[in-house]
Amino acid sequence: MSEKVIVIGGGIGGLATGLRLLKNGYDVKIIEKECRVGGKVNLLKEKNFKFDLTASILMIIEPYKELIEYIDKDFSMFFNVKSINPIYRVFSYENKYYDFNNELYKLMNTLEDFSQKDSYGYIKFLGDTYKHYIAANNYFLCESQINKFKILKPKNIKVIESLKTSNCSYHYIKKFIDNNILTEFLAFQSMYVGISPFDGPSIYTLIPMISQLHGLWHIEGGMYRYVEVLEKFILELGGEIECGKNVEKIHIEDNKADGVITNKGLEKCDIVVCNSDFSYTIKKLLNENNSQLKIGKYTMKKIQYTCSTFIMYLALNKKYDILKVHNIYLNKNFKDNTQKIFIGELPIDPSIYIYCPSKIDNTINKNGEEILNVIVRVPNLCENSVEWNENTIILLKEKILSILLSIDGLEDLKEHIIYENYLTPKDLESKFNCFNGCAFGISPTLSQTNWFRPQCKIEKLKNLYFVGDSIHPGAGVAMVLKSSKIVTDEILKDFKNYN
Ligand SMILES: Cc1cc2nc3c(=O)[nH]c(=O)nc-3n(C[C@H](O)[C@H](O)[C@H](O)COP(=O)(O)OP(=O)(O)OC[C@H]3O[C@@H](n4cnc5c(N)ncnc54)[C@H](O)[C@@H]3O)c2cc1C
Repeated sequence: MSEKVIVIGGGIGGLATGLRLLKNGYDVKIIEKECRVGGKVNLLKEKNFKFDLTASILMIIEPYKELIEYIDKDFSMFFNVKSINPIYRVFSYENKYYDFNNELYKLMNTLEDFSQKDSYGYIKFLGDTYKHYIAANNYFLCESQINKFKILKPKNIKVIESLKTSNCSYHYIKKFIDNNILTEFLAFQSMYVGISPFDGPSIYTLIPMISQLHGLWHIEGGMYRYVEVLEKFILELGGEIECGKNVEKIHIEDNKADGVITNKGLEKCDIVVCNSDFSYTIKKLLNENNSQLKIGKYTMKKIQYTCSTFIMYLALNKKYDILKVHNIYLNKNFKDNTQKIFIGELPIDPSIYIYCPSKIDNTINKNGEEILNVIVRVPNLCENSVEWNENTIILLKEKILSILLSIDGLEDLKEHIIYENYLTPKDLESKFNCFNGCAFGISPTLSQTNWFRPQCKIEKLKNLYFVGDSIHPGAGVAMVLKSSKIVTDEILKDFKNYN
């Protein structure tokens, strides 16, 4: 008889793990509190158009393919994937813009507009950071970091030293590049995992490097298309998905997880996989005294968290040629405004990311509307320093609109808004149980990365596993897909003497 697994949460991590376990013959049930699976990778659906709720940048496509191939399916049969070019259009507050193409000769035109020295610096930045990425990927990102003796082999220590991550991203970039716009463009992207480029380790500069060298991609239909296909395969393989059911506690007997208590009662199982946010799970779904659990160097109380986001969703009845699929607007006083977010203040002049999928995808808008997600980084709810009331929201919305209207070519955008909506850190907290409304879970500081990050299981409690963005290797859909592979391998090892 196969072991029964309950997965708490149908986010990308829960779906991917469920699918892999089904493929290995487990009896899988996914319990999701919301009415639809996907977690943060979700949809905002209106009659004539739909928005990707959060994630929009698809970089590193291999883990997306790997999961589909894991269950012996052909990725290209289910997804129409397009390469995005330019990968970014970058607007500066001085009303200039720059296109970053992934064709080298076109990229050089943009770079040489800055200076020949910075062109060379940018290329050198890519080369050096690529070397770090290969090392990180080969040694750390694909494997569990549970066994410290295995990890801390002299060879691995050498690799860690070679990564030179102790510098912050901004200073690391500055070693290569003089121009502020170019530096800030790279630093802005290193914030995609929710950490400040002025504090966070320089390893996150691998994000802009990967986008530039490996490209960015778009799945027709948006990110949610990937979720829909995973859901379909889970059901085809005999898995069960129950939405609209809230897990209230994990049932533990003799230090062993053997079921979950939901709003409808106790459900027994052999294995519990938690895809619900790690800190929320420890604090709310396990016993109170587990708050004393040590994660890496720290108890739960001392853990640092990523920032959050405010998103404005706009549908427009006019097309705007000035926008590309991915756009970044770099505002003045980048450093001050960025640092504010991480000390609990709203930025005065925020830099923003504008996602315009309608440039490449006409399956999301029945009448050809322009679809925009405008995203601003904001403080998480840890300090309770920002009150998310109507006034705050109006203020942010006005600020965002004034930035958009200041861009040459978007002056009349306000008159063409036919739909608007927004998402705040409070929504992330209430919808998906994101602890303190953090967008990317536990912060990937050096002391909360690799073996210091929560791993896919904790020694103290048996038959209990974790997958998701607060778990090693970290946040972002591609990393969470890797996390699902790591946790599945660990379960197979524990239950089937797999090696
Ligand atoms: C604004 C924003 C922008 C982003 N942009 C990108 C991007 O461009 N590219 C990218 O790759 N990544 C991006 N990310 C990150 C990416 O979305 C996440 O890393 C990833 O989706 C996390 O997946 P997960 O499975 O770990 O968690 P989640 O998506 O949080 O899934 C957890 C699930 O558990 C459910 N749950 C929680 N508690 C319970 C309970 N008690 N009972 C039952 N169910 C429960 C939740 O409802 C949720 O469905 C972004 C994130 C945000 C917030």
